[in-house]
Amino acid sequence: MAELPRCRRATWNEVEGWADTVAAKIRAGPRRPETIVALTRGGWVPARLLGDRLGVSRLLALRVQHWGVTASRDGEARLTEGLSGPVAGAHVLVVDDITDTGESLQLARDHVSGAGPASVETAAFVHIAHSKFLPTYFAEEIPRDAWVWVVFPWNYWEDLAQLAERAAAEGPTLAAIRATLRSRCGLDVPLRDLRSVRPTAPSRS
Ligand code: AMP
Repeated sequence: MAELPRCRRATWNEVEGWADTVAAKIRAGPRRPETIVALTRGGWVPARLLGDRLGVSRLLALRVQHWGVTASRDGEARLTEGLSGPVAGAHVLVVDDITDTGESLQLARDHVSGAGPASVETAAFVHIAHSKFLPTYFAEEIPRDAWVWVVFPWNYWEDLAQLAERAAAEGPTLAAIRATLRSRCGLDVPLRDLRSVRPTAPSRS
């Protein structure tokens, strides 16, 4: 049987809500960040939304790779591209979309800490309770026994292409793929979206 994770498709409204919640927590916290470091790639949109809400215009990138294709882990988290600018003396906030194992954010926090900042805090929109790393700020916690692959809007097409390819092993038509994604992943996907990721698949048998 194809490996198909339970999924939850996040909406832009939820994303806005998470950004509001995390920004409010940071405002209530002891310090205002001066520089935001976004983990590439999941942290980019969250970092930009937080920067907007907090009035922080200095955004840097740091590339950590951990998960390969959708919901399949790629060994240990590793830092594959260094900080895109200096952070010495700055109050820094390191941002990712979700902490699952927590290895990515932990590795990033440790790397940034070694670059001489005045302080380092971390934030994620979603935190899975089994994560071994607790971000300083997060908006929503998913209980450890309710693990799910969150399909963020910035990863929708990539996730859909991956999941549809795996689902096609159970039945290659668009109708079959749609039914498999619904029953196995809990994802309700419009046929036109499936058609754009599997343009040569027959509609039905
Ligand atoms: P981790 O190092 O396990 O905390 O995972 C970090 C990165 O992998 C995140 O930035 C996400 O892009 C991706 N990721 C891991 N787990 C999930 C999940 N359950 N749902 C969506 N994305 C995930």
